[in-house]
Amino acid sequence: MAVQDERKSSFKKTIQDDTKREKLADLLRRDGRITGRQLKEAEDLQKKKGGWIGHVLIKLGYITEDAILNFVSRNMSIPVAELAKENPAPDALKLFDFAFAKTHMALPMEIDAGTLVVAMVDPTNFAAIEEIANKTKLPVKTKIARLKELADAYKKHYSISDEDYKALLPVEGEEDKADHKASDKPEASIDLGEIISSVEDELEIAEEEDDDEGMVGAGDAALIQLVNGILVKAVNQGVSDIHIEPYEKMMRVRYRKDGTLTQVMTLPLQMKNALTSRIKIMANLNIAEKRVPQDGRIKIKVSKTRVVDFRVSILPTLFGESTVMRLLDPGKLQVDLTKLGFSQDALDKFNLAIEAPQGLVLVTGPTGSGKTNTLYSAINALNTEDVKILTAEDPVEFNFQGINQVLVRNEVGLTFAAALKSFLRQDPEIILVGEIRDMETAEIAIKAAMTGHLVFSTLHTNDCPATVARIIDIGIPPYMVSSALILIVAQRLLRRICTKCKRQVEGIPHKALLEAGYLKEELPNVKIYEGAGCGSCNNGYKGRVGNFELMACTDPLKIAITARVGEDVLRKIAIKEGMITLRRDGLNKMVEGMTTMEEVIANTVLQKEALPAYLLNPDELIFEDGDLIIREGNTDKNFYQLLQGGLIITKNGRVVGEITQPGEYFGEMSSLMNQPRTATVRSKGKSVVKVYPGDKLRETIDNYPDIAFTIVRSLMTRINEADKRLARLGDRPAT
Ligand SMILES: [Zn+2]
Repeated sequence: MAVQDERKSSFKKTIQDDTKREKLADLLRRDGRITGRQLKEAEDLQKKKGGWIGHVLIKLGYITEDAILNFVSRNMSIPVAELAKENPAPDALKLFDFAFAKTHMALPMEIDAGTLVVAMVDPTNFAAIEEIANKTKLPVKTKIARLKELADAYKKHYSISDEDYKALLPVEGEEDKADHKASDKPEASIDLGEIISSVEDELEIAEEEDDDEGMVGAGDAALIQLVNGILVKAVNQGVSDIHIEPYEKMMRVRYRKDGTLTQVMTLPLQMKNALTSRIKIMANLNIAEKRVPQDGRIKIKVSKTRVVDFRVSILPTLFGESTVMRLLDPGKLQVDLTKLGFSQDALDKFNLAIEAPQGLVLVTGPTGSGKTNTLYSAINALNTEDVKILTAEDPVEFNFQGINQVLVRNEVGLTFAAALKSFLRQDPEIILVGEIRDMETAEIAIKAAMTGHLVFSTLHTNDCPATVARIIDIGIPPYMVSSALILIVAQRLLRRICTKCKRQVEGIPHKALLEAGYLKEELPNVKIYEGAGCGSCNNGYKGRVGNFELMACTDPLKIAITARVGEDVLRKIAIKEGMITLRRDGLNKMVEGMTTMEEVIANTVLQKEALPAYLLNPDELIFEDGDLIIREGNTDKNFYQLLQGGLIITKNGRVVGEITQPGEYFGEMSSLMNQPRTATVRSKGKSVVKVYPGDKLRETIDNYPDIAFTIVRSLMTRINEADKRLARLGDRPAT
C-alpha cells in the first residue's frame, strides 16, 4: 500500500511526498464508507465550527469512531494506540508540552530506534506529522488514538485542568448509535463513494418526476456499477454473505465474513427501489412483485477465469425489501479433509467411516456450522472413476467433476425423498441427501444404507446423541437406526485466532477454567490464547476452524440405541467408547491456541456428567426438628445425602453420632450390605435431605467414581467417629 510505504520512509521524503497523500476523509469516501454528499455536508459544517473532519462525520452519525479506527488500522496498517493501557515513555513525553500536543491532537509514546512513535487522532494529518518531525528532529511513526483516550492521557500525563479536558471532547453526540466495524482492504479500482454519490444525484432528479415508479434508475449505468461494485468487493474480500437492508432513514450494506457481520456502507434511502430492482433484474426475478419473498441466482464473472454464483433471497420487511446474497464461490470451498480442523483421532475415525462399503454417515449442527463443507470434503475424497456418486441438494453449492448432482425443487415435486427413490434405480455406490427432515426421506436413506450404499446426510441437531433421538422421533425403528448408522459428526465453526497477533492470556481464574470443563489435573498445563487484533485480522480472529464431535457406532452403542436408552445414557456410553464431545474438542483447540475461550463457551455446551435421571433429579425432602428419616431395624433400602442442617444418629436410644457435613451420604450401608437399618437418624433442627433409590446404589458406585468416593469417605468418617465414641463410652465405667 502506497501510503504505508511512504509513511515508513525517512521524514524528508515524507515532506516531499505530501501532495500525493490522501486525507482520511477521502479514503473513507472512496471505499464507500461515507458518500460524497455526506463528506460535503461534514466539510461545510467543519468550515463553520472547526474540529477534525472525522469527528464531524461521527457527530453527524455517518460513521463511528471504531469504524474509522478499524479502517485506518486495517487499510493503512497504522496500529491502534491503546492509550488506556500503554503509558508514554518519559523521554518521549518531555518532547511535547501540552499546548503542542493539543494543537496536533497527538501524544509522543516512545523513541524506538531513533524514530518517534506518536499516537494521533488523525494519523493522516500530514502537516501535523511534518511539524512534529521538525520540532523533534526525529522521523515520526504514527499510531491512531481514540479521542477520549487521548484526552484521558493528557489529563494523566500533563495534569491538565478539568476545563481543558472538557474542551477536548466533543459535545455529547450520538456517535455510539451503531457498532460499525470496518473490514479489510479497499478495492482500489472501485470508488464506491463516488458511484454512490452519482447515483444519488441522478435519483433525486428522477424521483421528483416520477414518484411511485419503483424502478427508477434500475438500468442506470452508475447504479449497475454500484451493484457490481458491492458484489465484486464482497468476492475480493472473501465474504460469505451480503446483506442489503432498508431501515426507516437509510439503507445499510453489511458483509458476513468468518461468521461475523460488519457494516461496509450506508446508502441513501432514495436508492432503495432502484437498487433492489437492479438486483432482481440480475437474478431473473419479478421486479413488480414486492409483497412476497423471492429467491433467485446471480452469476458474475469476476475475472477471465473466475465465475462466482450468488444465491439471492429477497424478503419484504417493514421498510422495504431486504436482500441477502450468499456467495457460492467454488474457489473458496475448502474440500481437503485434513484442513477442516479434525484432530488426528477424529480424522482417522472419519476416514474409516467413509471407506465403509455401506451405511449411514450423518453430519449435524445448526445452520452455518459447516456441515455441507464436511460432506463435500468426504465426497471429494471418495470421488474416483470407479464409484458412482449421486447427490440431491438444495442448493447445489459446488459443482464436482464426475458427480451427478441433482437440485431439489419442492415446487415441482422433486423432493429429497423423490430424488432418493430415483437414485436407487441409478445404481450408485454413494448417495448424498442434503438433509433429512421427514419420515419419508429418513426411511429411504436408512434402507439405502442397509442395502449396499454409503449414504451421507445432514440433520439439524445439537450433538451426536441428540441426533439418534431425532431419527427415532422422526419414526425410524431403533433397530434400523442402529444397524444402518456408522458415524455421526456434530460440528460447529469456531473463529480462529489470528496467528500474527496471537498472545497468551494470563490470569484466568482456575474456577473459570474448571467451569469451562477442564479437569483439575489439567490446570497446570492449560494455556489460553487470544488475538490482540492487528492489521491483517478481524478483532484478533482470522478464518475459522471446525469443532467436531464424532460418534462412531460401536457395538455397545448399537445395543444401547436398539434398547432405546435416553440421550444422557447414550452420551455416557459414547464417551466411554471414545467420543470427544464438542466442548472437549473446543477445550483442546483452546490449549492448542487455535481459538479462544469466548468462542468455545459461546458455541458449545458443557454436558452435565451424563448422570442418569435418578441421580440428576433425586427427591429433596425437608425435615423438621426430631423428624424420623431412618428407623433402626427397618428394611428399606434408600440412601440419602444431607444438603442443609444436621442429623442425629441414635442406636438403642443412645446418641452415637451426628451428620453435619453438607454433601455427606448416609443410609448406604443397608443398601450395600442388604441388612436392616442398624441405627436411627433424625433431623436435628430443620434439615434438607436428598433421597436416592437404594436399588441403584450398586450401579451408581460402579459407574460414578466421584460419587462412590464421597460415599466411602462419608462411611469412613462415620466409622472413625463411632470408634472414638465407643472408646469414650468404654472408658467411662472404668473411671
Ligand atoms: Zn491479527
